[in-house]
Amino acid sequence: MLEKFPRVSLAHLPTPLEHMPRLSKHLGGPQIWVKRDDCTGLATGGNKTRKLEFSMAAALAEGADTIVTVGAVQSNHVRQTAAAACKLGLACEVLLEHRVKRPSEPYANSGNVLLDRIFGANLREYPDGTDFAAAMDKVADEIRVAGGKPYLIPVGASNTVGALGYVNCAIELLQQAGASGLAIDHLVAATGSAGTQAGLIVGLRAMQSDMPLLGIGVNIPQAAQEEKVYALATATADYIGRPGIVTRDDIIANCNYVGSGYGAPTEAMNEAVLLLARTEGLLLDPVYSGKALAGMIDLIRKGEFGAASNIVFLHTGGSAALFAYVDQLRT
Ligand SMILES: *Cc1c(COP(=O)(O)O)cnc(C)c1O
Repeated sequence: MLEKFPRVSLAHLPTPLEHMPRLSKHLGGPQIWVKRDDCTGLATGGNKTRKLEFSMAAALAEGADTIVTVGAVQSNHVRQTAAAACKLGLACEVLLEHRVKRPSEPYANSGNVLLDRIFGANLREYPDGTDFAAAMDKVADEIRVAGGKPYLIPVGASNTVGALGYVNCAIELLQQAGASGLAIDHLVAATGSAGTQAGLIVGLRAMQSDMPLLGIGVNIPQAAQEEKVYALATATADYIGRPGIVTRDDIIANCNYVGSGYGAPTEAMNEAVLLLARTEGLLLDPVYSGKALAGMIDLIRKGEFGAASNIVFLHTGGSAALFAYVDQLRT
């Protein structure tokens, strides 16, 4: 299904699908499994690496020499893009958005942004609410004037090209479940810039799986998040030549666990980070996977998954950001 799209190998695939017996027992509900996309391997891993296999290949196919991308100061996407650019011998220009108010010293300098600097990405800082489409075009023009060839990757690599990485993940997950005889009743993942959820649902439906997928939002309210995912999912289905496979009802986001805003810690996130660490020895992150697992735990406790016996939590990575939140996390 994806053979016709250019792709470079960046991720360690397939990522493991593991049972979490101690977390399952602790919650006393369905059996919980984890799809370990925190183990994609590039510069501490995470979900953007799968997307970048397609985005970076498209850049190389166009003969680009400089990647231009955008993200929050503690963006996992920027960190993985900066590392991929190094591995492929490309320059990397980054537009960093100051989305979090009054950042602490570690937020401004540790975690992901420390790694961006180690990878030698050129970091440019912009205020919250900047028109990034225009700002990226301006940077691209500058690169062209200097004789370079830019390739623009949008926030989170969430366009049709990047979403192919999660079409691929859905296919991989169905193969793993099939091989081990695991009947997955529900798949749960964090949803932000939408490429992960959009790609997954396209991959599932393209493989004739009717597995329900729940996105747990980390940013905007439900209606806007679902519209964003739906728009990208339909565009991605068209892009792979399978128009119409995703319906509006397939797109479900729960945005009740965002708290006061993107990147702002919540009590439930803090609890989820400690619980997963202390039951399974696994690290989440404060911005995405921590809030997503917090939501999943609350929904399990409320019985919202009904008679489901097996739930898969997609671990999208991000633990490098824990170090940026040293002042806020309570241990
Ligand atoms: C980017 C990111 C997400 C969200 O994925 P989208 O494709 O942007 O919706 C989830 N978890 C982590 C750790 C991320 O970095």
